[in-house]
Amino acid sequence: MSLQLYDTLSRQIKPLHPEDGRIFRFYCCGPTVYGPAHIGNFRTFINQDILRRTLEVAGLNTRHVRNLTDVDDKTIAAANREGCSLREITDRWTDRFHEDSEKLGLLPPHEEPRATDHIQAQIDMIVRLVEIGHAYATDEGSVYFRVSSYDDYGKLSRLKEREITHDHAPAGSDRMDADEYERDSVCDFALWKSHKPTDGSVSWDSPWGPGHPGWHIECSAMSRIYLGDTFDLHAGGVDLLFPHHENEIAQSEASNGKPFARHWFHNTHLMVEGQKMSKSLGNLFTVADAIERGYGPRALRYVLMSGHYRQQLNFTWASMNAATSAIKRIDKAAAHLAEASGRSIDQINSEIGHSPANGSEWNGLQKAWQALCDDLNVPAALGGFFKAIPELESKKNRDEAILAQDRMHRFLYALGLLPETMQSVTAPEEIIALANERWAAKESKDYATADRLRAKLTETGWKVLDRKDGFDLEPL
Ligand SMILES: [Zn+2]
Repeated sequence: MSLQLYDTLSRQIKPLHPEDGRIFRFYCCGPTVYGPAHIGNFRTFINQDILRRTLEVAGLNTRHVRNLTDVDDKTIAAANREGCSLREITDRWTDRFHEDSEKLGLLPPHEEPRATDHIQAQIDMIVRLVEIGHAYATDEGSVYFRVSSYDDYGKLSRLKEREITHDHAPAGSDRMDADEYERDSVCDFALWKSHKPTDGSVSWDSPWGPGHPGWHIECSAMSRIYLGDTFDLHAGGVDLLFPHHENEIAQSEASNGKPFARHWFHNTHLMVEGQKMSKSLGNLFTVADAIERGYGPRALRYVLMSGHYRQQLNFTWASMNAATSAIKRIDKAAAHLAEASGRSIDQINSEIGHSPANGSEWNGLQKAWQALCDDLNVPAALGGFFKAIPELESKKNRDEAILAQDRMHRFLYALGLLPETMQSVTAPEEIIALANERWAAKESKDYATADRLRAKLTETGWKVLDRKDGFDLEPL
């Protein structure tokens, strides 16, 4: 079954395939590195990661480019605030972003270009846009994109279907200096910003004098360098749809007359405990916040992928507990299969990375895989997976267990949830004695005593899991 995904530009679910027949090439707008990325940012990056993994498990090669925005209004303001250089600030937060990404199991992109390493390419693109009349310089040495010169402006966010005003542009002007602005303000946007005293030492020479590029031009310039004029898919959070992605399309397509991205993949917002995420509410939680509260990063990844990417997801700390149990269940199933197959979890994990599947091989996991291929329906895929676990675990014959183990690990690789070997925790002697007493009561059908002892074990922080021939103890 081929993978299909909703495309924001055509408003249709469309099959994904590499235009060149070889490599699926896609661009993701990356983080602005001036502070820690929050879990809302990571929800988007995790869904992009699942898309890439699913394409790879389906047998396609990918080329994944994700930029680092290391110069814009926010990074410059942060450097000023902290009294250090732009590079110091952006290096610090780039390192932190990489650490968090690794914890969450995100595959590193094949290319991760920094905006400040590609200033000349951005200048070249602006020069071209000025030459052909799509942009103009001002007396102060800034350059703006002339929105009225580009007929297709607004095709991604469907601007023509909405009431458009210029209310948000500065009084008496049709121009916008800020990198981010409101949806209903369509105005000429900055490609190059002349140097201001507040920019401090952040400055590059250009044909229009010293300054720095606007935010939007970096993605147009860098995607062209690393992926070419036209590429297979462009991804980002839905908050980037306007103006950022609209402006990227305008810059790229106006500059060379060629189509830009063939498919647009947008992720919807994350809510936290029923509220919008915001600084003022103090709910911009990070990976570190989850770890501080004692949760594993795999549980965090699980929660952030548990809603469909086109629907709002409500993050709650309670959902982290359920996710922790789900992860344990996955590890336990993997442990069963490892025992039956005689092959360790780590061994299979290291072999599984890139082994293409053909549809018929999925057996009990067919439905779960289909859900993933059908507009990346991760919640349905997880549902299908957990439903299939008992059947997977029932494989006692070694050959069958080997096949089931391969399928399960390959599927979990697509989700980025590869199992880990469970840490065995030995219960203290008095707890084991209590549990033995309970087992004996249960065997002699004295259920009242068995229940009482189970409650006592729960009180002391232990959970009893009954098997046919005995029991396991797990810390709660
Ligand atoms: Zn971008």
